[in-house]
Amino acid sequence: MTTTYTPTPTTVTSPTTPATAATPATVTVRHLIGGEWTGEPTVERRNPARPEEVVAVAPSATTADAHAAVTAAQQAQADWAATPAPARGAILLDAAELLRARHEDVARDLVREEGKTLPEARGEVRRAIDVLRFFGALGWRATGEVLPSGLPDTQVLTRREPLGTAALITPWNFPIAIPAWKAAPALVTGNTVVLKPAELTPLSAHHLASVLVEAGLPGGVLNVVHGRGAVVGDALARDRRVAALSFTGSTTVGQGLHRVLSARRARVQLEMGGKNAYLVLDDADPAAAARVVAAGAFGATGQVCTATSRVYVTPGIREAFTAALVEEAEAHVPGDGLLPGTTLGPVVSEAQLAVDTAAIERAREQGAHVATGGPATQGLLLRPTVLTEVHHSSDAAREEIFGPVVAVLAVDDYEQGLARVNDSAYGLAAGICTTSLARAHDFAARVQAGVVKVNRPTTGLDLNVPFGGVKDSSTNTFREQGTASVDFYTWTKTVYLGHQ
Ligand code: NAD
Repeated sequence: MTTTYTPTPTTVTSPTTPATAATPATVTVRHLIGGEWTGEPTVERRNPARPEEVVAVAPSATTADAHAAVTAAQQAQADWAATPAPARGAILLDAAELLRARHEDVARDLVREEGKTLPEARGEVRRAIDVLRFFGALGWRATGEVLPSGLPDTQVLTRREPLGTAALITPWNFPIAIPAWKAAPALVTGNTVVLKPAELTPLSAHHLASVLVEAGLPGGVLNVVHGRGAVVGDALARDRRVAALSFTGSTTVGQGLHRVLSARRARVQLEMGGKNAYLVLDDADPAAAARVVAAGAFGATGQVCTATSRVYVTPGIREAFTAALVEEAEAHVPGDGLLPGTTLGPVVSEAQLAVDTAAIERAREQGAHVATGGPATQGLLLRPTVLTEVHHSSDAAREEIFGPVVAVLAVDDYEQGLARVNDSAYGLAAGICTTSLARAHDFAARVQAGVVKVNRPTTGLDLNVPFGGVKDSSTNTFREQGTASVDFYTWTKTVYLGHQ
């Protein structure tokens, strides 16, 4: 995701409302089932930068609610599939316009709910708008093929048929972009949807659902159920009427869902964890390499599935690169994402901060040196952290740390570096800093990762390119985003048309 992507800087002007203005009202979020907003809100979401502020209150669904959402989706399925694709796309295009009109408000809510900085949140909402536009326009294009037949007077064509009801389970780190990039291709290709957003971020998903409803999406075509993954997510996965499940989240949860869906041969797409590596070679410019690595490691508080988490550096550049990386880390201004000047928002929750802090502590115990950063000093703020003297076999080099923490490791040369990059359970994103075209090509060909970057941060993908990983990062079957996502949400029917 990506995320999967680095939010694009926007041209939106600075907020006119100071961050210190009166606390905005708490938003009441409800389930969306069969076109009705329902459910008693019971669960509070507080601003990670200002714990006294309740941003949203949302209901927590039961398995019965999850099943009711699937029933509503099933009832809407036939009419939606029969709606011409351009008409389905037109609703997405209208929803994009509505979201664009509320861009700033939704971005500010996203900061308050998830914690990232306002420019990052604006970039994410911008991405959701563009995703709706991209797939809205695809309503005119997503179709099958015409193929030659060996038979005389016969034409063969393929039709892209919707799967039926798709369940979408999403994480908190890109709380509007990820639901958008799963829901938009599912909807435009004629599927109905039940979305289960992360518990920590109900409001951003609510904003997305609201614009789709207001744009005219018929009741039951999109349903949203809030609540606990182990209850709602599990109920959706086990409901045999759900034809496909697209999940983004942790590897442990994803693997469990895979077992459930595969057992009944339903289609499943998983985007999971990463331990994304960078290789910095002697021929690179140390300051430029440090900028690239820092952007990938610390952007969006490092809470990105494609974040750079380990860097292998050859001897000639190691000292200069490490010094420049520490400088980049220390230039960050952690703080409330709504305050002008903040470049790094808080960690999403106390639980996540405890996990990140424990990982830094474990690294220290296993021999790493904390060159800069370390545990939070205030609230949920965690300073960008650079670990040096990290051993390749230690946890800091092997296990995902979903925060602004990067490990620097020594390698002798390119071949050893490439081998270390590939020696991982994960394979989501990887990068190389080099001025050698030959090395760049060789790395792109031999590295085991779904996304390869040369002299660019591991984070940040355009919305039109296939996204996914290999090994424990992904199901490595269907890719997300761009036209590749149509493959996941449709099946191909082959039709022979003979002349009489
Ligand atoms: P998570 O796996 O805890 O939760 C993700 C979603 O799954 C949430 O909606 C949650 O409620 C639901 N869930 C939890 N338990 C479930 C269960 N038993 N059955 C069904 N659903 C369940 O992950 P998270 O903490 O929200 O997000 C962080 C993780 O997501 C990180 O590991 C990160 O690498 C990964 N991530 C991956 C990508 C990617 O594209 N590869 C993108 C973003 C985040």
